[in-house]
Amino acid sequence: MRCNPAMEISCGDSGSQEESGGASHDPRREYNRDYMRRRRADPAFQAAEHERRQRQYYARKARRAEFQAGQSTNLRGEEVCAYCGRRPPVEHVMRLQICEQAPDGYVEVRIPYCGLC
Ligand SMILES: [Zn+2]
Repeated sequence: MRCNPAMEISCGDSGSQEESGGASHDPRREYNRDYMRRRRADPAFQAAEHERRQRQYYARKARRAEFQAGQSTNLRGEEVCAYCGRRPPVEHVMRLQICEQAPDGYVEVRIPYCGLC
């Protein structure tokens, strides 16, 4: 028994159809594609999307700045290497940190270091 052409489309791999350059004739996919095109072209959607991206950008930036402020602890509060922020420290190294109140303009600080980075 031979499969009819409609069955071949549904049971064959649909990826090769688009790779060969032919447009998809699946009505559901065409409807979804047109719907998303109309939605993305909507100025209200564009404004909301812009707002959402800006909010995410600033939230990510604030999270990163917050993490850098507490350099030697990870999100769980455990002490980690101040350089890579991942491995546990094996020693503390002496470094200079800028400090406007200090007479020389800097102070010595002890920083946790994993010994590998
Ligand atoms: Zn490290």
